[in-house]
Amino acid sequence: MDKQLLILDLDETLVHASERPLDREPDSRLGGYFVYRRPFLSEFLAAVREWFQVAVWSSASSHYVHGIVWQIFPDPERLRFVWSRERCTQRFDPERWDHYWLKNLRKVKRLGFPLERVLMIDDSAEALRMHYGNHLRLRPFFGEKDDEQLRRVLPFLQELCQVENLRTVEKRYWR
Ligand SMILES: [Mg+2]
Repeated sequence: MDKQLLILDLDETLVHASERPLDREPDSRLGGYFVYRRPFLSEFLAAVREWFQVAVWSSASSHYVHGIVWQIFPDPERLRFVWSRERCTQRFDPERWDHYWLKNLRKVKRLGFPLERVLMIDDSAEALRMHYGNHLRLRPFFGEKDDEQLRRVLPFLQELCQVENLRTVEKRYWR
């Protein structure tokens, strides 16, 4: 059987990009942004590419998303897709009186990926409001040097990549 599909968010999941530098030099720059990689990013990407088919879906602009992808992935041409804001759906949250971007996995299903075998790692709960069974949430990353989420989630991902139906596995308490 094909490997499961792992869809990765970028901002506050794999990197933190800020218009102002933090207390240290950024790992890279893109447009006007100072880009900080989440600790253990390269180890994380090397591991998940062995266990999953990997794709990227961010609610940022297409230009930014492709720029970051080419900076951080050692082999971006191997990604199954790289999607940006154009593939998201804008929704309004009346409680916070604000808009947010929703990632509707039906678009992924249409590509032929059964949703029982699709996992999405995203710091935002709102983005996957319709698909919490496919969602593995990390704490958002804002440039902390001692962040360990990417390292600590790897054993759980190694388990998940072997299950038949990802949606039946409780993913809220992995920490
Ligand atoms: Mg994010």
